[in-house]
Amino acid sequence: MRTLESVMENDPELFSYAKKELARQREGLEMIPSENFTSETVMQAVGSFLTNKYSEGYPGKRYYGGNEFIDGIEMLASARAKKLFGVPHANVQPYSGSPANLAVYFATCKTGDTIMGQNLTDGGHLTHGWKTSATGQLFRSVPYHVKADGYMDIDEARRLAKENKPKLIWVGSTAYTREFPFEEFSEIAEESGAYLAADIAHIAGLVAAGVHKSPAKYVHIITTTTHKTLRGPRGAMIMVTDKGLEKDPELAEKVDKAIFPGMQGGPHDHVTAGIAVALKEASSPQFKEYASQIVKNSRALAAQLLESGVSLVTGGTDNHMLLIDLTKYGNGMGVFAQDALEAAGITVNKNTIPGEPSSPFYPSGVRLGTPAITTRGMKEPEMREVGVMIAKVLVEIQKYSLPEKEKRADYLKAFRSEINANATIRGIRGEVVKLCSKFPLYPGFEM
Ligand SMILES: *Cc1c(COP(=O)(O)O)cnc(C)c1O
Repeated sequence: MRTLESVMENDPELFSYAKKELARQREGLEMIPSENFTSETVMQAVGSFLTNKYSEGYPGKRYYGGNEFIDGIEMLASARAKKLFGVPHANVQPYSGSPANLAVYFATCKTGDTIMGQNLTDGGHLTHGWKTSATGQLFRSVPYHVKADGYMDIDEARRLAKENKPKLIWVGSTAYTREFPFEEFSEIAEESGAYLAADIAHIAGLVAAGVHKSPAKYVHIITTTTHKTLRGPRGAMIMVTDKGLEKDPELAEKVDKAIFPGMQGGPHDHVTAGIAVALKEASSPQFKEYASQIVKNSRALAAQLLESGVSLVTGGTDNHMLLIDLTKYGNGMGVFAQDALEAAGITVNKNTIPGEPSSPFYPSGVRLGTPAITTRGMKEPEMREVGVMIAKVLVEIQKYSLPEKEKRADYLKAFRSEINANATIRGIRGEVVKLCSKFPLYPGFEM
């Protein structure tokens, strides 16, 4: 099957970038834990004429005509979400995870109200109240942290909630490798009368498959992106739980109003269609197997890395993600690890670690995960191979160190050219290409 055939004929300039991007995806190990490879069915739905429609409002209550079938699509997506996550309400219109989270603030708080979330450099997401995010500027943000061992500091969160009486508390984050303590946070929220929102953007697929505890019993609101472990198109959902409706019978309405007309105009109906497809796929026995393999792979990779002398925050993982602590090679080494791994064909992202001794732009860790390579069909033996390769790459960065601010640009430029010419790294690049060719990505696509 030729893909993007019409683009090739009519927009060769764009086509050449797309072609290179497909090759990059095929020939590298995609290990950014927030990425995945969605199915051809999802891509067909998203890349279709369903992008043409305007449908501001909600099914049966639209501001535009001609929405009979779009209503059907949105209701299908919403019904599948409710069934899969065991909740009475699901809004599938958010454009992405960040606007979904902002809508939760507007549904539950007034600007200036106090909110709590996991601190960004402790693994939290920008939208949980970080100072450079609108959420940290419009609301009074009281961050909670992880302990020195990398696990959530529940005692601190409890104390901060008692002292600050937040209106909204977030549980769930973007760089945490252990199971989220939903139950403990539900007690904390209860004590302070706060709304509790679980942001399961990263782990939605694991929750859907029963591989991670579901927050549905413990929280009032659940937000998630649809493009991470859930393996759908780029988008998001906001769900209200039975517990949420008990606390506030109008909560579902407040959430809907916060999305439209509060923050958004017309929903992206082609994406809604892709979400519907992804939710159907995520309900299948094959997906359960996939999600449990993600975690098995993550554990196998962790075991190999530890065996090869690489340090991990919390000493391992319960989910799809690992956080490498690079401080034994020096502070702020994340960028070196990220670039060296990229030169070897392994895509990861630099990340802060608990008690970050450097800065978010020059952090001391690397975050990586197994969702995308598990989609390709890789299993434990391949994780062992990958772990050995990563450890070898990390040896190559050990003679470098992050210089003071003024010298960084030149130093990193020199580092990048050296690392690209490094024989060990080049050898690993070859091994990566070979491994990838055994697990073809979109084998039917020709460009
Ligand atoms: C990815 C992520 C988001 C934001 O999603 P975008 O689609 O990038 O806006 C929000 N919360 C968490 C925990 C995430 O991991």
